[in-house]
Order: sequence, then C-alpha cells, then structure tokens
Amino acid sequence: MLDMQLKASDNTTDDVPARTPHKPRDLGPSEIADKLYTAILEHRIPPGTKLAEGRLATIFSVNRARIREVLARLAHDLVVELVPHQGAYVAKPTVQDARDVFEARRLIEPFTVRKLITTLTDRTKTQLQQHLAREEEARRRHDQPSIIRLSGEFHVLLAELVENSALLRTTRELSTQTCLIISLYSASTTLSCRADEHACIVHAITEKDEKSAVELIVRHLDHIQESLALDPVDTEVDLEALFTQD
Ligand SMILES: [Zn+2]
Repeated sequence: MLDMQLKASDNTTDDVPARTPHKPRDLGPSEIADKLYTAILEHRIPPGTKLAEGRLATIFSVNRARIREVLARLAHDLVVELVPHQGAYVAKPTVQDARDVFEARRLIEPFTVRKLITTLTDRTKTQLQQHLAREEEARRRHDQPSIIRLSGEFHVLLAELVENSALLRTTRELSTQTCLIISLYSASTTLSCRADEHACIVHAITEKDEKSAVELIVRHLDHIQESLALDPVDTEVDLEALFTQD
C-alpha cells in the first residue's frame, strides 16, 4: 500500500497542478452528518461510542468547528447525545425509551397504512415495489448493513408516500430510534425486520385491504419488539448461589 502511494506521488508532475489526489474534497456538515448517520443506522458504529471532535476532524480533514456543527445536527435528530464536559456519544436509548418508541409506532403506523390506501396511486405502488426489490437485493447479497438500513427506510417510505410532513418527521425519528434500540437490545441474530413481512404489508396495501394491512403492520411491530430483550433485569444475580453449587 505504501509502495503504491509512493509511486502515485512520484508520478505527480507539474503538468497537472490542479489535481490533488491525496487530499479529499472538503466535506460540508450535511455530508459528514449523513455519513455518520448512515454508519450508525447500519450498526457500524454501536450506541455509546464516543465521537471525539479531534478524531473526527482528522478523519474528515475538516476543522473542529465543523465537527461540532455536525454533532449538534445529529444530537437534534437524537442520534447523538451531547454530554456536558464529556463530549458526544452515539445515543443509547433506555429500555423505557424502547417501550415508548414501540407504543408510539403502534399508534402511528396503522394510521399511515390506512391513509396510504386511500391515497394510493400507480406511482406510489411502483415506489413500494422498488423498495421491496432493493431489500430483496440486499438480502441476496447478504449485505447486513444495507438490510438493516433498508428495513428502517421501508417504514419511513410509507410515511413519505402519505405526504404529511409532521408524520414523516416523527416516523423518521422513531425509525432511527428503533435502529439504535435493535443494535442495543437485539436478543437473537434478528437484526432487522423479518424478510417477508414488508412484502405482505405492501401486498395488503396495493390490494386496498385495510383490515389486513393494519393487522400486518401491528403484528410486524410486535415481532420486532418481541425479538428484543427488553425485560428488566430487576433481580440481582445471586453470585453466591452461582459459584457455590456442588
Ligand atoms: Zn419493518
């Protein structure tokens, strides 16, 4: 790798003064925020990870002021938690936060699905099918980060197609929180929505079968929540009993 870099450097001539192959393009705050946001959603940066300003400034070749702006944006989206005198960390929703998120989703998403059925067009049907195809393709490639991200984006898409900005904002926030929650509390290898459930929901929506669509979305949210270990660990481990058995 070093050899290649040296060679590339040796080949640089004065004929191409405008080319600076080793210096990355100056990234704006939105671009850096998007990169971090995607990496967090894809479970490539776990909840609780410290996001040190200096380290990020070096990684993205920008000054610390820009990183502070990025972290403030991510904190606004509840992806990052800013702890006074300590710095920024990837947010770590509590068990209670997790329960609240699923309770809110079970209220909101049936409404989204009902509204989507009443406003359904050929264009929205196509967008739903295209999203399912993207999920399918990611599963075929066993591309776990994309599977996780696309699973969350499916629910955001439903809200997007309803064209209600408040609903979209809330759904996006809840979906992002769910992603962090799954990363923290997933009890099994289940790291995203079940493979065929989105397809079943889309089928019910496109058939305008409101009853089934609502039942399916609620059951789907139940399945995600059931796959998590959210039961409180309120009994202390009895260390004596654990280590003094015959
Ligand atoms: Zn889902």
